[in-house]
Amino acid sequence: MLSIKDLHARVEETTILKGLNLEIKPGEVHAIMGPNGAGKSTLGYVLSGRDGYEVESGSVEMDGKDLLDMEVEERAQAGLFLAFQYPVEIPGVSNMEFMKESVNALREARGEKSLSSAEFLKKAKEACKQVELPLDFLKRGVNEGFSGGEKKRNEIMQLIMLEPKLAILDESDSGLDVDALQVVANGVNSQRDGKRSFIVVTHYQRLLDYIQPDYVHILSKGKIVKSGGPELAKEVEASGYAWLAEAEGADA
Ligand code: ADP
Ligand code: MG
Ligand code: MG
Repeated sequence: MLSIKDLHARVEETTILKGLNLEIKPGEVHAIMGPNGAGKSTLGYVLSGRDGYEVESGSVEMDGKDLLDMEVEERAQAGLFLAFQYPVEIPGVSNMEFMKESVNALREARGEKSLSSAEFLKKAKEACKQVELPLDFLKRGVNEGFSGGEKKRNEIMQLIMLEPKLAILDESDSGLDVDALQVVANGVNSQRDGKRSFIVVTHYQRLLDYIQPDYVHILSKGKIVKSGGPELAKEVEASGYAWLAEAEGADA
C-alpha cells in the first residue's frame, strides 16, 4: 500500500528527513512516536505534498505508483488523507457544502457515482452522530470559530466521509483533552476495516491506549530508529527518549 524508501527531505535550507524507511500494508495501523522536532509532522507534510517541503532523494510509492510525482489533489484521489489537509477557515461556505463538494470530487476521480443530496445528508448525519457533533454544525462555515475539540471531531468526520485508503493523523501537538482523544480513537477504530491503513503520529502513549496499533515506530532526527509492537509505546512512556541520546552517543 505505502512504501517509503530512504526518504530525504528538507524544509527551506534544512534537511529534516534523513533516510526514512517505512512499509505499510493494507489494514495496518502504524503509530509514529518520537521527541519534539524529530520530523514527525514533516513526514506528514512531505507525503501530502505541501508547499515548501522538498524531497531530496528516496522514493514513496502508493499502490505501486510514485506518490511524489503527484499533485496534492492527485494524492487525495489516490486515497491519501491527511487530517490537516483541510484546516482553513472558509467563511461563507458551509461545512456541508464544502464536504459534499470534496466527497463528490473524490468519488468522481475514483470513478464512483456522486452522492445525491439525500445520500450525502444521510451519511453526514451518521458521521455527525459518530463524532458527537450537533447536526447544525453542518450549516456552520468551514472551520469558522471551531474550538480545538470541534476541529478534531470535524477532521474525523472528514475521514469518515472521504473513505481514504491511507489516513495520516498528526496528534502530536494538538493538546487533546480526553473527550477529543476518545473521538479520534473511536473514529480510527470505526474506520478500521482490514483494508484501510493509518499512520497515527503521537507524542504520548495515551492515545495508543485507545487505538491498538499494529506497529510502533520511533522517529528520531529524521529516521526511524526503532520499530516494534504496542509494547514499544509502553517502554517509551516508562523511560522517555533518553535512550536515544545514548544510542546516538554510541554511534558517534
Ligand atoms: P515533530 O513533528 O517531530 O515535532 P517537525 O517535523 O515539526 O517535528 O519538525 C522537525 C524539524 O524541522 C524541527 O527541527 C523544526 O524546527 C524544523 N522545521 C519545521 N518546519 C520548518 C520550517 N518551515 N523551516 C525550517 N525548519 C523547520
Ligand atoms: Mg513538534
Ligand atoms: Mg509535529
